[in-house]
Amino acid sequence: MTANRIHHTNASVIRLYLPRRSGGRGLLNLEHLWKKQIINLRKYFKEKQTPLLKVICEIDSYSPLKLKNNDEPTQAPTIREKREEWQGKALHGKYPKALDSGHQTESTSWLTSGSLYGETEGFMCAIQDGVISTKNYKKCILKEDIDDHCRMCKTAPETIQHITSGCPTIAHTEYLKRHNLTAGILHQKIVTKLKLQESEDPYYTYVLQPVIETDSWKVYWDITIRTDKTVAANRPDIVLHDKQRKEAFFIDIAHPNDNNLEKTEREKITKYFELSQEYKAIYKLNKVTVLSNIITSTGLISKNMETYFSKIHLDNKPMIRLMQKSVILETCRIVRKFLNIQE
Ligand SMILES: [Zn+2]
Repeated sequence: MTANRIHHTNASVIRLYLPRRSGGRGLLNLEHLWKKQIINLRKYFKEKQTPLLKVICEIDSYSPLKLKNNDEPTQAPTIREKREEWQGKALHGKYPKALDSGHQTESTSWLTSGSLYGETEGFMCAIQDGVISTKNYKKCILKEDIDDHCRMCKTAPETIQHITSGCPTIAHTEYLKRHNLTAGILHQKIVTKLKLQESEDPYYTYVLQPVIETDSWKVYWDITIRTDKTVAANRPDIVLHDKQRKEAFFIDIAHPNDNNLEKTEREKITKYFELSQEYKAIYKLNKVTVLSNIITSTGLISKNMETYFSKIHLDNKPMIRLMQKSVILETCRIVRKFLNIQE
């Protein structure tokens, strides 16, 4: 797997043998299977106690079962024990801990669906395991005597989290591109569902229209909302305005670090509170709801995502999975590009 770039040399090995739904790679461990067979066969021989099996048990010190020996061989680790071992590691353990703050099934759907190339999957696992050769990794883990300031912004230590979602120098280029691709998937789903567009384009060629308006609907993309009172946050990513029901939704999208999933989600909701009140008053609406669409840069999905989307009747798993896939592909692209930049 390492030779074919499917498993990074320093990535977690125990993770390989965990089920994909738990964030692992789903491989069978031959040694563990062998141990299980030994234990099961020993049990069979010892419990049967027919004359022939009894004799075999008394003399066998030659077969792998070693029946003459009464000490039971060690058990293969259970899934739970493997998971605890993974989580207990200082570096590799960060991702499984963060996984608990997200929606378990949806956050690991990129692994269970198997829709990525092995190399991309391995690269994302290496990013999540924190073993990418950033300057901070070289300094703190490999103990190289180097300055670990980011090669781009020179302000913060160059950690993998800094590259995937914290570097201000690439915020308006690389992160924005990743953000707008996700926004495009959601926007296109909304406009096709509302029959404002007939056919669906591939998400990477979809062009976001700033304003789409009919007698019943208004869909804004990245438009500044004018209000009488000055409001600091006045530009939600998507505004979905239902003229008939007199209701609107502000949808904001973000791809923060794994550690900031819940924090970013709360921030987005409070950020647009004032604007939602103003908008509601201007258009005399019954209700304005803020929906926060958070997928972390490594693909963790908020526990609330389905509930949020059900409010706009878009509790659509394939759409959520496509957004996650797009984020993962973009994060891999950003990290590869970043590491190729020479100072
Ligand atoms: Zn930087």
